[in-house]
Amino acid sequence: MITLLLLVLVWGVLAYRRASLQRFTLFSAVLLLAGTFWGEVGAASWLVFAVVAGVLNLLPLRISLLSTPMFRVYKGIMPEMSTTEREAIEAGTTWWEAELFRGKPNWQTLHNYPRPQLSAEEQAFIDGPVDEVCRMTNDWEVTHELADLSPEVWAYLKEHKFFAMIIEKQYGGLEFSAYAQSRVLQKLCGTSAVLASTVGVPNSLGPGELLQHYGTPEQKDYYLPRLAAGEDIPCFALTGPEAGSDAGAIPDTGVIVMGDWQGEQVLGMRLNWNKRYITLAPIATVLGLAFKLHDPDGLLGDKPHLGITCALIPTDLPGITIGRRHLPLNVPFQNGPTQGKDVFVPLSFIIGGPDMAGQGWRMLTECLSVGRGITLPSTGTAGTRLSALASGAYSRIRRQFRMPIGKMEGIEAPLARLGGNAYLSDAASMLTVTGIDLGEKPSVISAIVKYHLTHRSQQSLIDAMDIHGGKGICLGPNNYLARGYQGAPIAITVEGANILTRSMIIYGQGAIRCHPYVLKEMLSVQEPDAQKALAQFDAAVFSHLGFAISNKVRSFWLGLTNARFSSTPVSDATAPYYRQMNRLSANLSFLSDVAMATLGGELKRKERLSARLGDVLSQLYLVSATLKRFNDEGRPEALLPLVHWACQDGLYQAQMALVELLDNFPSPIIGKLLKVLIMPWGAPFVPPSDRLDHKVARSLQTSGPVRDALAQGLYLSAEEGNPLGMLEQAFIDIQQAEPIFNKIVDVLGRRPFTGLDALGVEALSADIIMKEEADLLARAEVSRLRTINVDDFAPIDLAANKEQFSNALYNKNAAPSTKRPAKN
Ligand SMILES: Cc1cc2nc3c(=O)[nH]c(=O)nc-3n(C[C@H](O)[C@H](O)[C@H](O)COP(=O)(O)OP(=O)(O)OC[C@H]3O[C@@H](n4cnc5c(N)ncnc54)[C@H](O)[C@@H]3O)c2cc1C
Repeated sequence: MITLLLLVLVWGVLAYRRASLQRFTLFSAVLLLAGTFWGEVGAASWLVFAVVAGVLNLLPLRISLLSTPMFRVYKGIMPEMSTTEREAIEAGTTWWEAELFRGKPNWQTLHNYPRPQLSAEEQAFIDGPVDEVCRMTNDWEVTHELADLSPEVWAYLKEHKFFAMIIEKQYGGLEFSAYAQSRVLQKLCGTSAVLASTVGVPNSLGPGELLQHYGTPEQKDYYLPRLAAGEDIPCFALTGPEAGSDAGAIPDTGVIVMGDWQGEQVLGMRLNWNKRYITLAPIATVLGLAFKLHDPDGLLGDKPHLGITCALIPTDLPGITIGRRHLPLNVPFQNGPTQGKDVFVPLSFIIGGPDMAGQGWRMLTECLSVGRGITLPSTGTAGTRLSALASGAYSRIRRQFRMPIGKMEGIEAPLARLGGNAYLSDAASMLTVTGIDLGEKPSVISAIVKYHLTHRSQQSLIDAMDIHGGKGICLGPNNYLARGYQGAPIAITVEGANILTRSMIIYGQGAIRCHPYVLKEMLSVQEPDAQKALAQFDAAVFSHLGFAISNKVRSFWLGLTNARFSSTPVSDATAPYYRQMNRLSANLSFLSDVAMATLGGELKRKERLSARLGDVLSQLYLVSATLKRFNDEGRPEALLPLVHWACQDGLYQAQMALVELLDNFPSPIIGKLLKVLIMPWGAPFVPPSDRLDHKVARSLQTSGPVRDALAQGLYLSAEEGNPLGMLEQAFIDIQQAEPIFNKIVDVLGRRPFTGLDALGVEALSADIIMKEEADLLARAEVSRLRTINVDDFAPIDLAANKEQFSNALYNKNAAPSTKRPAKN
């Protein structure tokens, strides 16, 4: 009995610590020897041990008795993997998220990643041309009057190589780090979403990126300097009316034929396409085009259908229609459709040359894993940070019921969400670009941040709008919120619409890429050499079994002890978060294996289950990014409320995803059993408390380290045309005015916080305050009124067709009255 108990205990410890099979065998043998010595273990037990240990440890025996039949079953149930799926799965690399997925994250690894930093050149660019273009841009003019950036801004962007941040220096580009690109985009986004997307798109997935990775030397030498100098404007056209999310289904074609090119007969492609939603298309001079290439006459080889191919097409060729615009949600960056009818180009127009025919999907998925981690997460983060800062300032300035609205508990709740999400989003964006700058192409992480940071940005803008009331609703040059609010669905939709990203991509790719053995098992099926295939499968599947057992033991033990004894790299107030993430990480890993084992290929179709598993992975990533940022910043005490809020919210959301997963598990019995196993004492986490919300909300309404951390690197200069900068100035003015106001009120009695200028004059003449204080009150009153007032317009200014409006007005006034004369 004692031997058995000891065996279970030792196996538990070994499994928890992920010991090897040899160690299991050795420790079991030692315990059995001790048991024999105590007289508890007889020949029968030794026989069982010898058989089990022999089969498991002797490879030929294990393969023939266990792995061969298992492999047969596995091959039967594994769904076929198409080339497209395989390319998507294999695209990119895994990084920190793989640690989180595997149940035992090494926190020191996280802390050791370098803190992202700007080079002197990058910093100078941000302080120089970026500030200048922010100064030059007036978002109301862009969105309402011109429906475009001004010609001066376009010229400035080209001259200062804003479209060449990713292009290498040898081609005349800026060759900035991913971190620098992210900071540039965040700053631009605070001034104008049109400005940020116009700059973001050429620096993301598109001709520049594709050429640098796959272009032939001739293509690079020709196009990259032209793109860097702004002589060519690129766009990338994949989407069409029939193929949005399912981009692999594009009906656009290229057929290999002989044709006339500049007076000579050459081998080329006859292209036909119908694309829509293409950013920069209306003004593009070169179109990165994705289409399906066919070779029916075998002119290139023996494959009649070569697959998705990407080519660079000058937009002035005959047969191309381009120039019309869509109007995306009153955020009128250049975006529109394009069609091509029997456009002939030589094969050399394929990006990478004829050898890359049919490689388009791989190229796109590989490049997407980088671009998707930078542009949209950065602009989303900027939206969240600015919403938080603006709402904090406005809540302090705007008074109702004789007090700042930010003091009301109802307003504290959205304010706290804004503060916590702003800190977390910036942290996640920073960690992601750190990975990219380390050379990773983190496809799973980029999907996580694309989804979560754009989603949180949209939610933050809704919170900010609610806090601002009518001030947020009335459009005009002084409205700093509404265009962001209107445009938020754009970021949600592009580069993989969010519902799809959450339901299919994060966990779909994550489970296969981050799991240490699943991909190896899947690939073993495709190995043509039967012996090799079996050996690969055997190694993967037995390691997998050990891994799954370990995660189960870890999940149970960490749940039983509430992770109290698990390791953390720190011993301060954030230590519990590391411990609880050890627990959630083990849960995720264990439940993944259970879900895959019980559902197999069906899991792919059970989108709501895989979305919830993806949610757990995502929250772990976001919380770990928060802790990493806090550590990088030197663990400043003043930022702890934001860190606590972000971590508690993240852990709570991860827990709710687990609860929903288990409550909806296809087998309710398995779901219930799993719940008892991983949460033996019930669900452990609660959302941030009202008290914590209060702290975060208060810190957003006070100048100090919290606001400084959230405002870092944003364009908040107080100048006409930058309403956010003016709001920031008003916020400072009001804070300075408050103690003077209180001094006056102490003497003169209670007053409303209005007419501060007149109050200042009265108090000055009563010798209650000094001249400078009266001046300050006068300035604060101007700021206050500017903050609470909204724009209004002459009716004609709002009419898009002013001529028709004037005619209608004229006719109305000139028309004979239809009113009946009043009776006496
Ligand atoms: C302003 C703007 C700019 C763009 N710029 C470009 C560009 O420059 N180049 C380019 O090629 N494309 C561009 N796009 C296209 C963009 O990538 C697509 O809009 C996007 O892929 C979604 O396609 P769709 O709009 O047709 O939506 P649909 O594919 O019709 O999707 C509708 C909804 O169904 C959901 N859905 C679809 N499949 C699934 C699934 N399997 N599981 C769960 N939910 C699912 C989606 O998440 C979405 O919510 C742009 C789009 C817009 C609006």
